[in-house]
Amino acid sequence: MILYSTNNKNLSVSFKEAVFNSLPIDKGLYMPSEIPSLSDNFIQYIDQYTFPEIALEVAKNLIGNDIPAADLKALIEEAINFDAPIVPLDERTAVLELFHGPSLAFKDFGARFMSRIMGYFAQTENNTKLLDVLVATSGDTGGAVALGFLGVEGTRVTILYPKGKVSPIQEQQLTRNGQNIRALEIDGTFDDCQALVKEAFNDPELNQQLRLTSANSINIARLIPQTFYYFHAYAQLLRKGVKEVVFAVPSGNFGNIGAGLLAYKMGLPVKQFLAATNVNDTVPRFLNSGKYEPRPSITTLSNAMDVGNPSNWVRILDLFGNDTSSLKKKITAYTYTDEDTQEAIDQLYNRYNYIACPHTAIAYLATEAYRAHHPESYTSVFLSTAHPCKFPDVFRDEKLAAIAIPEQVKALADKVSQKERLGTDYPAFKAWLLS
Ligand SMILES: *Cc1c(COP(=O)(O)O)cnc(C)c1O
Repeated sequence: MILYSTNNKNLSVSFKEAVFNSLPIDKGLYMPSEIPSLSDNFIQYIDQYTFPEIALEVAKNLIGNDIPAADLKALIEEAINFDAPIVPLDERTAVLELFHGPSLAFKDFGARFMSRIMGYFAQTENNTKLLDVLVATSGDTGGAVALGFLGVEGTRVTILYPKGKVSPIQEQQLTRNGQNIRALEIDGTFDDCQALVKEAFNDPELNQQLRLTSANSINIARLIPQTFYYFHAYAQLLRKGVKEVVFAVPSGNFGNIGAGLLAYKMGLPVKQFLAATNVNDTVPRFLNSGKYEPRPSITTLSNAMDVGNPSNWVRILDLFGNDTSSLKKKITAYTYTDEDTQEAIDQLYNRYNYIACPHTAIAYLATEAYRAHHPESYTSVFLSTAHPCKFPDVFRDEKLAAIAIPEQVKALADKVSQKERLGTDYPAFKAWLLS
């Protein structure tokens, strides 16, 4: 697999280099220099493959010879060890549940795959320096990355999260791991956390002393496994005789929908993608006005989507050759307020007896809005990105009582929280890293 930078198509780096460096020096993002097409035969008979088999086929096509097939197979079987089921709500609406992993959010796919890819490549070297993974999180990334790397030898993970902006369960997942995982509570927003991490990666002095690597959704090894469940969803729908599908994706940094669009470019038949955001609507505004104007993030109920400047957006532009008009044909964007979100949660509960997390509820609203203008027959699938138990403040009593608490949460109860606190000042962060 050869990758270039979205800022420089002449740059070419190996998969391993893109995994360890995360970001090219020119501050673009790594993209595969060629998007492989999966065979028609595979797509047509995809319903005959299991989830890990689908993942292996997709990964082999993308990654090529960089990892021998037998090793890749073992790695995938370890990383993708939980399902992503399609749950039908009515004849034309279904939810794709991506929250059955250890941190109860879809980010487990990216984090588990990436940690194992990094571990695999690190093993093949004689580097004695610890691999220092830095990650900024608005909630779910950190938990997924912490659990993905927990106990992986030769690695240390530092998680930066915004003070007071993650839910109690999320905070437990960040701070109760111990071992090789450190939690840093930043007195600022998610964007501040992300800025600190970005500055660290761009600091030559720091990079001489530490072997830094990123775990944010900008890492190509997080993007790749997110394509798997789109193919797997399609396979499950084929088994039910469904041929046309619209995916609605709750979007913040636009990694999830970016992976869906990559799957589409690899040959997955998708009628339309719906990008659903909360009031952090930089992309919907761009699709309307043609102007990309990032803004500081606003706090909402769907806090994992409180992103003012979605870092994966340039990847999506790149996938479409920066042709905004063809991109607009494939993506329809919708924006919702917290009130809309609450109403959607109620509607899903009253109509289908289904309890969705606030991010998921926003995607549901997008399917309804699209359906209103596209009454033809197809199946709407909205992606459920997290288990509702991670957001207890959002639910009123009746629903809260109806949410089953998964084993993953119960296991955190008797562990001790450990965290350190810092401001948004870069020199202080750097000094802390070096201490
Ligand atoms: C991260 C996250 C999102 C947003 O996904 P992106 O890939 O950043 O667009 C949505 N919902 C939940 C629960 C998340 O954790």
